[in-house]
Amino acid sequence: MPRFRCWLLAASTVVVLSCRSAPATLPERPHAALPKNIVLMVGDGMGTAHFAAARLLRGEAFAAGRFPVTGLVSTGSANSLVTDSAAAATAMATGAKSNNRMLGLDASGQPLPTLVEQAEAQGKATGLVTTTFFGDATPAAFAVHTARRDQVADIVSQLLGGGVDLIAGTGAELFGTNGLPALRDAAAKHGWSLVTEPAALASAPGSKALAVFPTQRNDGDVPGARLPDLARWALERLSTDPEGFFLVLEHEGTDKASHVNAAEDLKTSLRSFDEAVGVVADFAKRRGNTLVLVVGDHETGGLRVVADATGALSLEFGTTLHTGALVPLFALGPGAERFGGFYENTEIARKVRALSQGTAPGF
Ligand SMILES: [Zn+2]
Repeated sequence: MPRFRCWLLAASTVVVLSCRSAPATLPERPHAALPKNIVLMVGDGMGTAHFAAARLLRGEAFAAGRFPVTGLVSTGSANSLVTDSAAAATAMATGAKSNNRMLGLDASGQPLPTLVEQAEAQGKATGLVTTTFFGDATPAAFAVHTARRDQVADIVSQLLGGGVDLIAGTGAELFGTNGLPALRDAAAKHGWSLVTEPAALASAPGSKALAVFPTQRNDGDVPGARLPDLARWALERLSTDPEGFFLVLEHEGTDKASHVNAAEDLKTSLRSFDEAVGVVADFAKRRGNTLVLVVGDHETGGLRVVADATGALSLEFGTTLHTGALVPLFALGPGAERFGGFYENTEIARKVRALSQGTAPGF
C-alpha cells in the first residue's frame, strides 16, 4: 500500500497500526541481530505427527518445543505435489523449486548457488552431516549440482572436490571390501582426512574431515556416532572458524523407518533427532549468535499418533510413500522471528540468504 493511503485512511486506529507495520516505515534491523552461525536440522520425512510423536517420546526433554518461533511449510516440488528429498533439499538450499530427483539445479536444469556455497564465499566453515549415505539427496543438494540423485560416483566426486569442510554419514560398504583405501586416497588428494571409526572422530587431523561409517538398519544411528554425537563433533570443529559456519544436520532414519512402517525404529530415530536438536539448541543458547532451524523436508508414511488399548503411544501408517502434508519448522536464535507463519520451502533459503548476507529488511 502506498504510504499516502495510510494517511488518507488514518481515521481508523486499526488502519494506522497496519500502516505502521508496513516495511517502508521500519528501520533496518541492527547488524547485531544477524546470525554468525546457522544450523539447519532436517528430520527427513517428519511431518507434524512425527514431531507430535517425538514430543510424547521425549516428554519434558522435547527440544523442538523450546524453540520460540514455529512455521508451517508447504513442500511440493516443481513437477509433483509430493516432493522427494532431492527437490525438497534443493528448494531449501537454493530458494528455487526443482523437479524430483534433481540436486542443486532449477527445474530447467540450470545450476543454482546453494547456501553452503554462499557461506563458503563468505569465508565461513561448512558441514554436512547425516545418518544415511553421505552423498544422499539431502546433504548433496547443498553442495552438488546434478539432475540424477542416484549418480553416486559423480556426487562423491563433486563433494570431495568442493569447498565443504566437514562431511559425515554412512555408505562405507558402497566402496566395496577394499574400497575404503581408494576412497581415502581420493579424499586425501583434496585435503580430506577420512574417518571410519567413531573413536577416531575427535582426533581427525587437518581442516577437512570426512567421516564414513557402515549403513545401519533403516538408516538409524551409527553406534558410537549417533546424530547427537555427530552434532557435538561438528559444532566443536566448525565453531573454531572466526567467520562463523553453516551446518546441515539430517536424520534419515525418520524417513526410512516411515517408508517401511517400522514403528519401533521410527521411535528410536525420532528420539535421536530430538536429542540432537537439544545439543544444537544448547550450543546456540550459550553462544547467542547462532540461528537454528529444525524442519521436516516432507512427510513420509501418512503417520497417525494414536493410543493403544492400554493408553500407550502407538504409531500407525497410511502409506509407505511420501505425502504432500505440511511440515513444521522451529526457529531459535538471531533472525528466528522471520520464520513464523505459512510459506513454501523455498522461503527458507531466501530468508537464510537475506540474514546471512545482512540484507534482511525489517518487517
Ligand atoms: Zn523418503
